[in-house]
Amino acid sequence: MAEAVARHVVIVGASLAGTRTAQSLRALGHTGPVTLIGAEDELPYDRPPLSKRLLAEDWSESLVDEIRLAGKAELDELDITLRLGCAAVGLDSTARLVHLADGSAVAYDVLVIATGAAARPSPWRPASGVFQLRTLDDSRAIAERLTLGEPLVVVGGGFIGTEIAAAARARGCAVTVVDPLAEPMARLVGPEIAGALVDLHRRNGVTTRFGTGVVGIEGEAGDLTVALDDGEKLAASTVIVGIGSVPETDWLADSGLRLDNGVVTDARLRAVGHENVFAVGDVARWPHAGRGTEVRAEHWTNAGDQARYVASAVVRGAAEPYAPTDYVWSDQYDWKVNAFGWRALEGRSVLVGDLEADGRVAMLHSDADGGLCGAVTVNWVRALNQVRRLSASGASVDEAAEAVRRLP
Ligand SMILES: Cc1cc2nc3c(=O)[nH]c(=O)nc-3n(C[C@H](O)[C@H](O)[C@H](O)COP(=O)(O)OP(=O)(O)OC[C@H]3O[C@@H](n4cnc5c(N)ncnc54)[C@H](O)[C@@H]3O)c2cc1C
Repeated sequence: MAEAVARHVVIVGASLAGTRTAQSLRALGHTGPVTLIGAEDELPYDRPPLSKRLLAEDWSESLVDEIRLAGKAELDELDITLRLGCAAVGLDSTARLVHLADGSAVAYDVLVIATGAAARPSPWRPASGVFQLRTLDDSRAIAERLTLGEPLVVVGGGFIGTEIAAAARARGCAVTVVDPLAEPMARLVGPEIAGALVDLHRRNGVTTRFGTGVVGIEGEAGDLTVALDDGEKLAASTVIVGIGSVPETDWLADSGLRLDNGVVTDARLRAVGHENVFAVGDVARWPHAGRGTEVRAEHWTNAGDQARYVASAVVRGAAEPYAPTDYVWSDQYDWKVNAFGWRALEGRSVLVGDLEADGRVAMLHSDADGGLCGAVTVNWVRALNQVRRLSASGASVDEAAEAVRRLP
């Protein structure tokens, strides 16, 4: 252990997963050098507020300060060497060197890859007026556009697209959300709850064009035309394209690491075949024991959990495979959507509560044997927490549904 805690740990990616890894290493007693490398010229910050508070409220630097994951003073005190504004451009895993954009190289004993994901690039690039949301700069630019109160088209009806739609309504913009899927949110929360969410958006004045694709965007900021595949043309001042994300692995192309929709790891989050290289957060694709398949999660809780797990593996050695919390949330207007686990294809679902009558609902999912494997709740965090506890004790979906029904 004395040797383990003295090794130089280099972390590439200075956001949630990278920062939490660095902080956890120190909390667990790692005494060796820790270097945190980040492409953005920003102290680490949290992303979920970028599509929520930072768009709905008036932009201010104090608001930005509130979403920092760590300040310079804290990182200095933890003796973490920061290399911000300096992307990693290559990895020599034999020589154990990370090559940086400024031409320098950093040697490591242990490497933690935490480069996350980027917004899937927009296929439509008119002169101006099309935005995507992944970074603080993106959020700042979109917030500026929303304050104009002019018509907005959001391409993509997933969580981020619909959160932006909600914020834009709060800013008084006319908003249309377009998605080629008939029920885009059903992938995330199941068809039963997706329908209620769509109604919520419509009640708040959002127009939806679901089951309709975009075939082109022309014009410039303030005067854009979005052409749909049914022949309709939508006028917009601003367009946000939110069509998913892609893992940031280009810099690893020649590294010899196994890349396949992320950095492929073993169950202990070590890059396959590389004992001293770990991957954490949105960039990691690992074998998920519960689902029986490899998973790349793009969730806040997972990034922090994996960071703490890997820090512990570096300091103490990993005993058990990584066991995810599988938790995600979204805020849509004043509704709180929370989910954990997954919906198994071969399982069944049990609905508890009534959104219209009670203003809250829980949908519980079972695996093929009736065991509880996931849940989605709306405005009912207490039910979700209850279900999570019961899941840990191996309850069946029916036992869990009964327990939720008894909640006050
Ligand atoms: C707008 C938005 C809203 C969200 N809302 C929610 C939510 O409500 N609930 C939820 O559960 N999750 C949400 N998420 C997802 C959550 O934020 C991510 O799961 C989390 O940020 C993942 O952290 P990460 O550190 O793995 O990756 P990232 O946050 O993507 O950070 C990766 C970092 O690595 C840097 N990097 C990339 N390439 C290089 C390189 N070559 N060299 C150096 N640095 C590099 C990037 O610049 C970035 O700073 C949201 C995400 C976004 C974008």
